[in-house]
Amino acid sequence: MVKPPPGGPARGPAAVPTEYYRKGLGLKKEVQPQLQVEYGNQLLTLMRAQGNQLTVGRIRFQIAASMGFCYGVDRAVEYAYQCRTKFPDRRIFLVGEIIHNPLVNQRLNSMGIEFILPSEGGHFDVSIIEPDDVAVIPAFGVSRPVFDQLRETGCAVVDTTCGSVLSVWKRVEAYARDGFTSVIHGKHYHEETRATVSQATKYDGAHYFLVRNMAEAKLLCDFIRISDPSEQDAREFMDNFRGRSSPGFDPLLHLGRIGVANQTTMLATESLAIAAKIGEAMSDRYGAEQISDCFRSFDTICSATQDRQDAVREMLRDPPDLMLVVGGYNSSNTCNLALLCSTYAPTFHIDTPERIDLVDGTIRHQKIMGTELLTTADWLPDGPLTIGMTAGASTPDASVGQVATRIMLLAGLDPEQAAAA
Ligand code: SF4
Repeated sequence: MVKPPPGGPARGPAAVPTEYYRKGLGLKKEVQPQLQVEYGNQLLTLMRAQGNQLTVGRIRFQIAASMGFCYGVDRAVEYAYQCRTKFPDRRIFLVGEIIHNPLVNQRLNSMGIEFILPSEGGHFDVSIIEPDDVAVIPAFGVSRPVFDQLRETGCAVVDTTCGSVLSVWKRVEAYARDGFTSVIHGKHYHEETRATVSQATKYDGAHYFLVRNMAEAKLLCDFIRISDPSEQDAREFMDNFRGRSSPGFDPLLHLGRIGVANQTTMLATESLAIAAKIGEAMSDRYGAEQISDCFRSFDTICSATQDRQDAVREMLRDPPDLMLVVGGYNSSNTCNLALLCSTYAPTFHIDTPERIDLVDGTIRHQKIMGTELLTTADWLPDGPLTIGMTAGASTPDASVGQVATRIMLLAGLDPEQAAAA
């Protein structure tokens, strides 16, 4: 157990719970074999040993050099397993999904770990938690009010907030402290962004403003460039951004000093382009010589997200016939990988191997850049085929391996043949 540190990273001087675990529970060795059995995959190990590829009959599988569980997810899942082992008799609550992967969440649920899911407005009601219980904070972190409520409950808290998320918090907290409004490239409904905005308003009078994509960033830039905006201009501007800013945010007052940050799992190229555009707009409005006084920017895409996007770009220099992207439908980094792949090759984003139906041969996949589920027949062409595969940071190897196995079965190939390759 971590002795209450002086606030913990990025939490300033706020108190932490008396029973607070931030660096594991000392049971890593005990849970590692179980994690390997449940989430590892021999086929994937074989592909990696063979230069990220494997040929079985007419199909050549190619996997991205970097994909699947990232360091933050590895750690969060491991801590949840350690938690169950350490506290076999205590009620354990996860404040949200530990990660955005349905298989991992179902598995934790089957271990008796209960989930507190957010309301439509994104609020977590943790009032059910009692002093003898254990609360697990997921890799995305939780907002400051929820953290404070957990502390006040007196329960044990296992905090798996990823270090890369803490870096974003540190950044926006510094913006807030220095009187800069945090402009965050992120999804307003995502748990990580909800937690981040609570750090961006840590100081009195601090504000945040969210942009989802380049189109929204351009609207912001257009407003910044107006030399003497009226209240009418402000009203029209804010009509495009309902629920995307801190209470009391006024574009006439709070866009004079801006610090840009981003949700860790956004498309890196888009985040960088957005930061550059906003910087240009601030320069146009206030003058290049004033820019360091009114504009700051820091790329807070995590290295795991960046590595996975880079690996896909590398693989798609010679695009395969089709791409399979495996990961939760609500996983931001997986959706961005699917978007990236779809610009190079026909792409199917599936959350579990079972989306490939071995009875009727269809694949049920999420629309790229949408939430709609589509069913596609005849998606696996005849003849020699190269199939590229990648997976989001919250997808275990086991899922990707099972996807490959189901593709082989559908193509009339013997997965045993692959294992013997
Ligand atoms: S995707 Fe990045 S920020 Fe999220 S858990 Fe993984 S390493 Fe951490």
